Amino acid sequence: MKEPKIDIDAVGGVDLERLGRSLLLHGERVGDGRYHVTGGEHDHWVDLYTTSHPRCDCGDHLWREQMCKHILAALLREGHDRVVDALGRLFRQVQPEVKRRTERATRAA
Ligand SMILES: [Zn+2]
Repeated sequence: MKEPKIDIDAVGGVDLERLGRSLLLHGERVGDGRYHVTGGEHDHWVDLYTTSHPRCDCGDHLWREQMCKHILAALLREGHDRVVDALGRLFRQVQPEVKRRTERATRAA
């Protein structure tokens, strides 16, 4: 399997808050590592493998050199290990809140 040319550590690792937002996006695979990401304020194009383009055409990535939510959405759909791991961390983070809500709902019933 091809490795995306993204150094996750160089961009500060996977940001969990951004990953959470990326889960709300829709990513359509349009080619090898290429995604059309919709569902946000604007549509964006992500290209994980070629070096001739920026990975994503959004401001977060172009100007702030961040791993944006669109890239995360694409990596998630590629099953990228680091992003899938981060998904587990994100889940553990929200789990106590989910549990509280479920218990509250059960008591109310
Ligand atoms: Zn982006």
